[in-house]
Amino acid sequence: MPAFIVLLGPPGVGKGTQAKIIAAATGLPHVSSGDLFRENIKNETELGRLAQSYISKGELVPDDVTIGMIRDRISRPDCKSGALLDGFPRTTVQAAALENLLAEFGGKVDTVPYISASESTLVERLGGRWNCKAQGHVFHEKHNPPKQAGVCDFDGSELYQRDDDKAETVTRRIQVYFAQTAPLVAYYRERGRLSEIDGAQPIEKVTADLLAALKM
Ligand code: ADP
Ligand code: ADP
Repeated sequence: MPAFIVLLGPPGVGKGTQAKIIAAATGLPHVSSGDLFRENIKNETELGRLAQSYISKGELVPDDVTIGMIRDRISRPDCKSGALLDGFPRTTVQAAALENLLAEFGGKVDTVPYISASESTLVERLGGRWNCKAQGHVFHEKHNPPKQAGVCDFDGSELYQRDDDKAETVTRRIQVYFAQTAPLVAYYRERGRLSEIDGAQPIEKVTADLLAALKM
């Protein structure tokens, strides 16, 4: 049965970084709701315009819009054996919708690694984050610098800092995480799916703990 892995954790904890590494190691597709919204914004779609108004304020995009976008993505053929979900679900309504979608597709939520770190670590990581324009590869100016400043190691595209990584928006995103997403920790723990990972460790150590939790 297709197994979907939900990477849970606050903004800046390293979900995207780990998802890219694990996707390369396992061949599972990396499905990032944030990347899908940013692609829509870049392509100036109606969905992109709507999402932008929430993202720029650090608020969540409404559930119905987000669920519809994920439904389209995970019904594509590359997800027939499962996927790494990064940034979705972010509310209990989205988590329930995911169960229904997977029941329909004959899949299930497998392990839910919950990666955590202190708030000061999150703020420091988001403040130094640089993303690549082509494929969303992630760097940090101090902890994971690109070989050449401003250029992606993997595809040579330009690196940029996200508008929503500025200090005021980061504070709001962390508040929104605690209010709307943190309840998912209990949700998945009660269902016996949660696996806790210390996200304050170096990138390689977090990867090793994740692979052990996923039994990969
Ligand atoms: P998320 O997807 O959870 O928001 P990212 O993967 O984008 O987080 O990581 C946020 C920032 O922190 C990036 O700049 C990334 O390079 C850096 N980072 C990720 N994991 C670690 C780690 N274990 N130690 C230090 N920095 C990290
Ligand atoms: P982060 O690096 O903080 O984990 P993402 O790239 O996952 O950020 O998300 C960026 C923004 O996109 C969020 O602040 C939110 O506005 C929107 N977003 C992403 N995923 C979701 C979701 N599942 N539900 C609602 N909004 C979302």
